[in-house]
Amino acid sequence: MTRQAIGILGGTFDPIHFGHLRMALELYQTLNLTEVRLVPCYQPVHRKSPIASAEDRLAMVRAAIVDEPALKVDDCEIKRQGLSYMIDTLLYLRKNNPDTPLCLIMGIDALLGFPSWHRYEEILDLAHLVIAHRPQYHIPDAGTVSKLINQHLQHHPAVIHELLAGTIILQPVTPLDISATDIRKQIAMGRSPRYLLPENVYKYIEEHGVYHICHI
Ligand code: ATP
Repeated sequence: MTRQAIGILGGTFDPIHFGHLRMALELYQTLNLTEVRLVPCYQPVHRKSPIASAEDRLAMVRAAIVDEPALKVDDCEIKRQGLSYMIDTLLYLRKNNPDTPLCLIMGIDALLGFPSWHRYEEILDLAHLVIAHRPQYHIPDAGTVSKLINQHLQHHPAVIHELLAGTIILQPVTPLDISATDIRKQIAMGRSPRYLLPENVYKYIEEHGVYHICHI
């Protein structure tokens, strides 16, 4: 007998914004997840190091979810340090939650790069993939991603609570065309990122000068 599924949303969160938060909350509600855990990475594998320190990114995530019990933060990748491989995070979560289906949430942009993730084929043995639509990105109709979808796609989302792992579901969420890169660009240009992210995250950025010497 499995438990209700939990969601896992990994990211650099440099900084966290309403695109991440709204997606996490909507999926929590539409998929009846017990919670969604936000997992800030320490050192991303396929991109430049984040601009903000791990400590600041973690603090901004904590600030963003302070009033929302459906969303939790998990600092396992920051504590582990080194390169943040999702497979290691899922092995750790599976060990601590042997009977809980795990739903790895990602936007389509992240799915497009999924075949280059370390040991990506094993990820579906440990978790379901919940793919959220993101403005300007489309699922390809050929190639590895398309094959994975053909093999694992499940049209009935309730299955995520019955099986521990192994299915892919595509889930529409309110399209919010917000990106952390754009927020950092706005700050670098001396513009305010206000209303793209929670007010207390905006205040944290201001008070700590997080992106003041920002190279985007
Ligand atoms: P950057 O612009 O620095 O690449 P980002 O805004 O894409 O950052 P990440 O921390 O890299 O944020 O993203 C973490 C996860 O959130 C990824 O799975 C990504 O697809 C998803 N995501 C980010 N922004 C949105 C958005 N506006 N709508 C839906 N999903 C999003």
